[in-house]
Amino acid sequence: MQDGTAVIDAPIQPGMLVEIAPGLRRLTANNPSPMTGPGTNSYIVGRGACLIVDPGVDDETHLEALMAACDGHVCGICLTHRHPDHVGGTARLAQWSGAPVLAWPKPELSSHDKAVHVNHELSDHELLGDGLLKVHHTPGHAADHVAFEWLDQGILLAGDALMTDATVVILPPVKLLISPGYTFAMGAGDWLVYAACFAVGAALAWALGKVQGKE
Ligand SMILES: [Zn+2]
Repeated sequence: MQDGTAVIDAPIQPGMLVEIAPGLRRLTANNPSPMTGPGTNSYIVGRGACLIVDPGVDDETHLEALMAACDGHVCGICLTHRHPDHVGGTARLAQWSGAPVLAWPKPELSSHDKAVHVNHELSDHELLGDGLLKVHHTPGHAADHVAFEWLDQGILLAGDALMTDATVVILPPVKLLISPGYTFAMGAGDWLVYAACFAVGAALAWALGKVQGKE
């Protein structure tokens, strides 16, 4: 990076430790796939004793690089959600570092989740690491998804809530915010209703096109 300028758009390359802003580094795991893009991003927040956001896959080389980036002083392992590409290395990193694991509570795991031992359950707007990060509950991609706001420079570590070049997969059941103060759970039955509504909408659009075509 140059002169303190953030380089958030630095190319994502597995295994390359990138300082995207002073005190915020990114290390991408070597797990490229259609679902993970170039690889799952782990973030290292702070200097000396660091917070790690998403350990990534259980890959020894990746986890050793995370430990080295923190000089072995990890003070917390923060999980954006429990998908295996984000939390696969949690148990090993926790064992190596002795750091607590922090995640949004999820009493019932989905088939897409990997079980992890959580030492501290997060709450919305909670501050972590002496005010380094602020927790934002962001359900959608997963019901337990959170984003971490790095308050120092207002950068949001959004996990899988946002993607650079693809649409995020939304997995039911999920709570959708329809209007302020009103949410509903979307399960298998709701998907059928959604599909029916889509079909009716498509038919109306086709019919409207026919009518307009006659004018
Ligand atoms: Zn995910």
